[in-house]
Amino acid sequence: MERDTDLVRPTKILKLKSFSSIHNGGMIKDQYGRTFDYVRIAVNERCNLRCVYCMPEEGINFMPQKDLLTTDEINRLISILVKSGVKKIRFTGGEPLLHKDIVSLVNFSANAGVKSIHLTTNGLLLGKMAKPLYEAGLNGINISLDTLDHKKFEEITRRKGLEKVIDGLNLALSLEFPSVKMNIVFMRDFNHREIGDFVELTREKPLTVRFIELMPFDAHQIWKTGKFFGAELIEKEIRQLYPNVRTDNGSATEHHIFKVPGYAGKVGIIPAFTRSLCGKCNRIRVTADGKIRNCLYSDDEFDLRQLIKNGASDKDIGKGIRRAMWMKPEDGWAAQRLGDQGRESMTQIGG
Ligand code: SAM
Ligand code: SF4
Repeated sequence: MERDTDLVRPTKILKLKSFSSIHNGGMIKDQYGRTFDYVRIAVNERCNLRCVYCMPEEGINFMPQKDLLTTDEINRLISILVKSGVKKIRFTGGEPLLHKDIVSLVNFSANAGVKSIHLTTNGLLLGKMAKPLYEAGLNGINISLDTLDHKKFEEITRRKGLEKVIDGLNLALSLEFPSVKMNIVFMRDFNHREIGDFVELTREKPLTVRFIELMPFDAHQIWKTGKFFGAELIEKEIRQLYPNVRTDNGSATEHHIFKVPGYAGKVGIIPAFTRSLCGKCNRIRVTADGKIRNCLYSDDEFDLRQLIKNGASDKDIGKGIRRAMWMKPEDGWAAQRLGDQGRESMTQIGG
């Protein structure tokens, strides 16, 4: 479906005027005073797993490769974003380690002056990719792993491979990346009884395990089956198991970061559905087909790839990015009210 790149809604035209009068360069901001210095770029849509909360077994209607951003186009966007004050990049997907140029994208980002370069992966290919990525300048890896049980791994991902992911995690830790985190989509009955096993991983390992609320981005295969387990309940469970746990300073996206005294790592909770942290949001999302999504829950996307294909200058592309972010809704609830979710799966948005 063609997206609303020309901002045709009357309220948006009104806000766009204020955008034009206020912004002609500098940092990327919105009308609510937020500044955006972190971009998440989905480099592909395809994946070697089929997580139940993300995609149906048969996959989704993947975009043909010709409709996705090329490596050169991604690099160009990175250069423009850096000039606009972006300091942190996260490559995601789909499965970013399936992208043939992922190492060179990291290398390009490092040379372009990105201060902090990260990647979110399911970890299956980390065994052979972790070292080249480290050498290319990657600063952090988030590994998505929802269970430590073989049977449940197959149930959730519909594939085998738990050992490979754990080997990849251990390799990342041994390479001493400045940041290694584990993303756990927390779901009632699937993995909520493993909370203590995950926290125990932080006893010896300098790892942050992060419990993420389930979000309704799966064309409703799982969302409607009562698996949601909210941030408050997660915190309650952690405090019951670890009464001496203490709260560390939370970052913009982690509801709380906890530390069990004496443990090497940390524990985070991300209220991805309850959205209590929208006021601190600093993220720009670029989909694999080159659309800016100014909020995870927003249906309004701004077509950067089309701008590029039309021969736009760097200055005009920068302006397109600023305009898209200026229109960011106040919070994820307001974003959701603007329209139905237009994407089939999180694999198209990048998480
Ligand atoms: N394939 C990579 C991976 O799984 O890490 C990167 C892409 S994946 C879409 C990015 C993140 O989104 C993962 O941590 C995944 O667990 C999370 N995710 C996907 N669908 C989700 C959902 N419905 N609710 C919450 N998180 C979700
Ligand atoms: Fe693939 Fe990541 Fe989606 Fe799982 S969450 S199916 S690993 S894109």
